[in-house]
Amino acid sequence: MDFALSEQQQSIRDAIERICARFGDGYWLERDREGGFPQEFHAALAADGWLGICMPEAYGGAGLGVSEAAIMMQTIAASGAGLSGASAVHMNIFGLNPVVVFGSEEQKRRMLPPIATGREKACFAVTEPNVGLDTSRLQTRAVRKGDHYVVSGAKTWISTAQIADKMLILTRSTPIEQAAKPTQGLTLFYAAFDRRFIEVREIDKMGRKAVDSNQVFIDGLEVPVEDRIGEEGRGFEYILHGMNPERILIASEAVGLGRAALRRATEYAKERVVFGRPIGQNQAIQHPLAQCWMELEAAHLMVMSAAWQYDTGRPSGPAANAAKYLAGEAGFKACQTAVMTHGGYGYAKEFHVERYLREVMIPRITPITPHLILCFIAERVLGLPKSY
Ligand SMILES: Cc1cc2nc3c(=O)[nH]c(=O)nc-3n(C[C@H](O)[C@H](O)[C@H](O)COP(=O)(O)OP(=O)(O)OC[C@H]3O[C@@H](n4cnc5c(N)ncnc54)[C@H](O)[C@@H]3O)c2cc1C
Repeated sequence: MDFALSEQQQSIRDAIERICARFGDGYWLERDREGGFPQEFHAALAADGWLGICMPEAYGGAGLGVSEAAIMMQTIAASGAGLSGASAVHMNIFGLNPVVVFGSEEQKRRMLPPIATGREKACFAVTEPNVGLDTSRLQTRAVRKGDHYVVSGAKTWISTAQIADKMLILTRSTPIEQAAKPTQGLTLFYAAFDRRFIEVREIDKMGRKAVDSNQVFIDGLEVPVEDRIGEEGRGFEYILHGMNPERILIASEAVGLGRAALRRATEYAKERVVFGRPIGQNQAIQHPLAQCWMELEAAHLMVMSAAWQYDTGRPSGPAANAAKYLAGEAGFKACQTAVMTHGGYGYAKEFHVERYLREVMIPRITPITPHLILCFIAERVLGLPKSY
């Protein structure tokens, strides 16, 4: 067993750190205040070929694994770019996995290179306002009309829909009452984001203003059959395939952001003098920081173990879910502790940790909440009866 980063993994970390160093705290603070997609950051990663890190080489990617992508995403978040930086590229990194695995050769050649090079941006449209985590109940309809489908419905929380050129969208093509199981009769498309048939309303949210999330209303969007991924009715299965890597990546982002918070808190604890000594000399300040370090390390090991399981073709569901849970909680605790370590200044934007605390809620909630992960582990790992 070898826990060390390989030479290649270390060089990925170094290269990403060098790019991130060009986008300092001031850049992310301004993005957080003003909003606006971090185009320059996205372009810098694209220019050096990082967006296609785990896409196959044949389609313009680097052909590396989820382990390497997890290192990349953690490094971005840990630089202080946080979720503003990570979410700006997250979809590029693994979002199109269903196309890689289930797409035809023609689709891969057409769809993957523009994403790998950063020429196009895509959003991922699953969540719906009336459905929540019970994805099989989604109501967006796709009706086949000859050589195309007509898609209508509403999605919510769709990140980057303001700027997306394409959309990976899960729809219902067979009414649920006619499907053999609720998870059947769902169809996946990689469609052009044709704004003549799509209305996008940005959600005013708690953090990560730079990367928009939106309500999306689709009315009569025509999607050619060539843009359907895999077979009609099997979309849920295809989406499931990408879920474990997505959990691993977002978990790694949470660890990165937690580390950024811990770094700031530790520096502050060394410098801030109250009652004639640095606040970091007090155990009440030291011990929570030490706890955060340990919990972030443990979460990181779980992330890398899950990534290794995925990359080596082992079943990675329990580890990916556990990594997402542990990293979300450890990241949150580190960000909250960082605010408390700063005292009143922790509440001031110029110290950055309040932004981290707002952003770390994202990997806690998405793409699946801690409650549902606990349900998954209870049911699938421990064999307890399904509770819902
Ligand atoms: C910033 C942000 C960006 C996002 N980006 C995207 C995106 O790009 N694309 C996309 O498709 N979605 C996106 N989402 C949506 C996200 O994946 C969902 O919000 C998340 O999956 C939770 O679904 P919900 O909000 O509908 O919660 P609900 O399903 O309404 O659940 C509400 C609460 O009830 C709990 N709950 C529900 N059922 C049970 C149960 N049986 N047992 C215990 N607890 C239960 C949940 O855990 C949760 O705490 C984003 C969300 C956010 C906040």
